[in-house]
Amino acid sequence: MTETREFKTEVRQLLQLMIHSLYSNRDIFLRELIANAADALDKARFESLTDPASAREWKISIVPDKEKKTLTICDNGIGMKADEVVENIGTIAKSGTKAFLKMLEEKGEKSGDLPELIGQFGVGFYSAFMVASPVELITRKGDEPAVCWSSTGEGEYTISEAERDEPGTSIVLHLNDDAEIYLENWKIAEIVHRYSDFIAYPIIMPEVKIGEDKKETQTERILNSQKAIWLRKPSEITEDEYKSFYTHLSNFGGTEYLKAIHMTAEGASEFKALLFLPKQAPFNLLMPDIQKKGLQLYIKRMFITDECKELLPDYLRFVCGVVDSSDLPLNVSREILQQNPLLDKIRTAVTGKVISEMKKLLENDRENYEKFFAEFGRIVKEGLHTDRPNAEKLKDIVLYESMNTPAGKRITLKEYVDAMPESQQDIYYITGDKREAVASSPALEYFRSKGYDVLFMTDPIDEWVMQSMYQYAQKYFKSVIKGDFEDKEAEEKVKNAAEKFAPAAEFLQKTLAEKVSAVRFSGRLTDSPCCLIVDGQALSPHMERLFRAMNQEIPVSKRILELNGEHPLIAALNEKIAAEADEAELVRYVNVLYDQALLLEGSPLPDPAAFAKEVVTLLGEALKK
Ligand code: ADP
Repeated sequence: MTETREFKTEVRQLLQLMIHSLYSNRDIFLRELIANAADALDKARFESLTDPASAREWKISIVPDKEKKTLTICDNGIGMKADEVVENIGTIAKSGTKAFLKMLEEKGEKSGDLPELIGQFGVGFYSAFMVASPVELITRKGDEPAVCWSSTGEGEYTISEAERDEPGTSIVLHLNDDAEIYLENWKIAEIVHRYSDFIAYPIIMPEVKIGEDKKETQTERILNSQKAIWLRKPSEITEDEYKSFYTHLSNFGGTEYLKAIHMTAEGASEFKALLFLPKQAPFNLLMPDIQKKGLQLYIKRMFITDECKELLPDYLRFVCGVVDSSDLPLNVSREILQQNPLLDKIRTAVTGKVISEMKKLLENDRENYEKFFAEFGRIVKEGLHTDRPNAEKLKDIVLYESMNTPAGKRITLKEYVDAMPESQQDIYYITGDKREAVASSPALEYFRSKGYDVLFMTDPIDEWVMQSMYQYAQKYFKSVIKGDFEDKEAEEKVKNAAEKFAPAAEFLQKTLAEKVSAVRFSGRLTDSPCCLIVDGQALSPHMERLFRAMNQEIPVSKRILELNGEHPLIAALNEKIAAEADEAELVRYVNVLYDQALLLEGSPLPDPAAFAKEVVTLLGEALKK
């Protein structure tokens, strides 16, 4: 019985794209199908650990048929049941397809390197339609009936009963006229060598040999070396081999990695690892599919799982790679394995290694490290809060922009401290949404006048991290928009201003009683008349905005309004009050003053239209005078 079904809309869109737009590197369809076959073999081999009767001679074969113009990719792996075929190949409720399409929309015409990204979005199977139509998939799982899935890649696919001698999957590609090159043995061998050499199962191609007696005999040729790249000497691995292995592993877009890290651990826990620092963050760093996968865990060259979160702390989730242990037990379930204390040891060692490699990169290749940090820094910073044992080491490798650096350039904490003038005691920072917003904060004025630098903490994570980061190099971190401000030199001036302009301060206090908790003079300002300061442990305006953006109810915390006693505006206000000017008019001035302070701290105005109107009215009145 044959049943016809329709593809989900996203799949249809994706197929159209595969068929019509992505030509630049069609070779990768074979890599994707081999990768799927290898995954299916991994799963079957893993099952055979507890069910030895199901063990087979695991392999992948690639069979070109020039007469029928078909290329068949065959594995004796786990196979699929009918409903799994529909689920995996027809519908795809995975976020990957949508994310992939969204990325295509954003990238528009520049789709040259897109085939490279297909695999990372979990849509590899469909790349078969770049070279073939129809595509048939015949599969069998255990003793379930075999099924045949078939489609021309347009709107529909069919599912029917089929025959298959042993469990596994065959994919029959009816090659398009312009894809006949994939029937050539040399072409197939070249692609396998290039992209799939390290696959742990033999990839076999039938071959005809002509003997000395001129007689033809059918033989088989193994196309891949099957050498586990992580067990090889780094000096013997080529750049291309690293690249194709990285592409195979990476959950992120792109084929470029920044650094390959080899590790050999001996002693308490013996393992080898090959890890990669990626170059580019994926389009959506927070995509759940991407987060789910971790390092691949092998035990004695046998793939166990890529969902073992215990191998790496969360804040290094951008690292991809393989860990191959020689002393974890093979024949236990994944769940039990994940409780094994040896995993903790591996995690500690791997974490330490990755941090030290990042440090080396910072020291030896600053330019690339800065680029890397721009992509992944905000994830690394999570570790400052969550990985206390490594927090000190992490402090050495985190970078921040600062008031004295040009936009986009970042410095280390050590560089900040080294540049501190003798009179400076603490490490100053300001938090906010973005550089432009914090750079114009009046709260920086004093520090600028003193020649002190201020770190710009503009990642959403920064403020959260700062709650547990008290010190670096025995210097305290201080937010320039929080708390009390001490400056011995300014003390006298501030005291005088407070006396001289007491009526102005009182008037402001009375008028803004609903909005601010206190009004006081300080030496913090040089150019602006006033600024808003966060009281003690209260949330900063930046943090408040973050909470609101997450729809969290938080109490309104009132700020302190600090005044600049040297500013002519304060003196003028004081004079007007002393001269008993029209109170209603003064209230209008005070409200505008408060609103502009809100703007400068980056907070939204409760009523921007009213503010704009009031400014215009006051300007008009001033011009008329
Ligand atoms: P991905 O492999 O990234 O998940 P694909 O579109 O390539 O995305 O494949 C979708 C799913 O179909 C796979 O996750 C797997 O469950 C199933 N699948 C594909 N090829 C095979 C195969 N040769 N054997 C068994 N299952 C397969």
